[in-house]
This record gives sequence, structure tokens and C-alpha cells, in this order.
Amino acid sequence: MIGVRRSIYKSPAQLRLMVEPGLATAASLDAVEAAILVGVTTLDLDAAAERAIRAAGDKPNFPLERGYFHTICASINDEVVHGIPGARVLEPGDIVSIDSGAISPEGWNGDAARSFVLPGGDSATAAQREELNRVTEQSLWHGIAALSRAVHLNEVGAEIEDYILSQGRYGILTDYVGHGIGRRMHEDPPVFNYAVRERGPEVKPGLVVCIEPMVTLGGADTYIRSDGWTIVTEDGSAASHWEHTVAVHADGIWVLTAEDGGAAGLAPFGIEPVRPA
Ligand code: MG
Repeated sequence: MIGVRRSIYKSPAQLRLMVEPGLATAASLDAVEAAILVGVTTLDLDAAAERAIRAAGDKPNFPLERGYFHTICASINDEVVHGIPGARVLEPGDIVSIDSGAISPEGWNGDAARSFVLPGGDSATAAQREELNRVTEQSLWHGIAALSRAVHLNEVGAEIEDYILSQGRYGILTDYVGHGIGRRMHEDPPVFNYAVRERGPEVKPGLVVCIEPMVTLGGADTYIRSDGWTIVTEDGSAASHWEHTVAVHADGIWVLTAEDGGAAGLAPFGIEPVRPA
């Protein structure tokens, strides 16, 4: 559709249609969370996520990306994002990012990620990874809280970066960023996880974005493995990745990929999410 610029702002009716695939996405990550253990393969987790999405009446949306055939991405240790599920067996102390998404029969998308540190392994390494994972998840909630009061979208990335740097020495990926979402999983606008000069679009009713900080214990440089998908840290440091799909509407914000709309994560900020009416 050359020459036609679709608005990045959805109507109230469209926002309502995004609630269901958001919940199906959350259910798929709940299923992974229940299944993840030392000794399982990432393909086992992929099957659990797919079952949950289909049980909700939706379909996995990652296979809509050209050449991708799985429900989730599973990225272990120095893999940051876009790891392909396979026969690799999870080991004690692994940090695993699971990214999942669903598309509803009406054609609307959800997209979310959580990272898990498996029990066991070297205790110093495990403690570092647990802390990395806590900081990354909390940076996401700081970003969502910033969105709820932002005038322009770049306030989200500034808040995420400020919070992460206040917690210690971490690498924040700049090669990959969050995105708008709707009828396509990846839409405008880009959502930066760090401060940028361009203010970005106005944060106003109808904006739906995926905020997804990717944080490492080392540097921010990455490369793509020869499989053409997996993004790996250049220095071999471990990474964490958390993501939610968040809607801005007239009465507030709602985290579409959280069963409680983000109530628990936003409570420390004094923010009560409101379901789109
Ligand atoms: Mg995403």
C-alpha cells in the first residue's frame, strides 16, 4: 500500500479486540513457566506454549515471520533473543528468555517475553543472573510506568535506561528495540530501551506498543549466529529479556499480556491499570 500511511493509533473497538490475543500470549508463557525445568528441551517448551495458544482459540503468530516455524523463541545464556527451539537440554543455572505471541481469529496480535533462571549450577553465577533478571524485569515495569504518564514515547526508553544504570554495570542492547503492534506483530513506532533525542510519537489513546528491554551482564554488542536467527552477545555475557504489549486508552493504560492488566507490576508505582472499555 505505497503512499498510504496507516495511523499508529487504534480505535477503542480495535483495542478491545487486542485484549484476547494478549491473554492467550500470557497463557502461553504461563504454560512455559509451569513446564520449564532442568532436563527439558526448548522444543518441549515450544509445544507447551503452542498448546496453550490453540486452547485459547488463537494461533501462534511467530510463524507469520518469513521462514520461522516455531511458537516461541528460546534464548539461552549468551543468546539474547530469536533463539530457535530445538533438542538443547536446559542445564542448572541457565538463564532462558522465552518470547511468545498469539494472533486471534480476528487478526490481532499479542507479543510478550519472560526470562527464567534455572535452579542449581555455580552459586555466584546464579546469583548474578538472578540479579540481572530482576533488574531487566523491573526496567520493563519502569518503562510501562513511564508510558502511563509520558507525553512522548522517548520518555519510556529514558526511564528504562536510567533505572538500569542506577542498578549497576549492565549492557543495554541498542541493535534491537521494541515496536508497535496491531494487525501485524511488528508495526511502527520503534520503542527504544534507552534515551534518544527524537521525542517520538505522542503518547495518546490508541497507542499500543511492545516494550522489551534486552540487558546483559557485559557489553551491548551482538552478532547473528550462522542459523540466521539467534542473536548472541559478542563478549559471551549472559542476557535477560522481558516484554509486554501495552495499550494506552482514554482512561489509562492496560498491559494486554498480563492477566491482571499489570496491576501487580505497577502497584509499586501507584498506578492502577484500567481495562479498555
Ligand atoms: Mg516483540
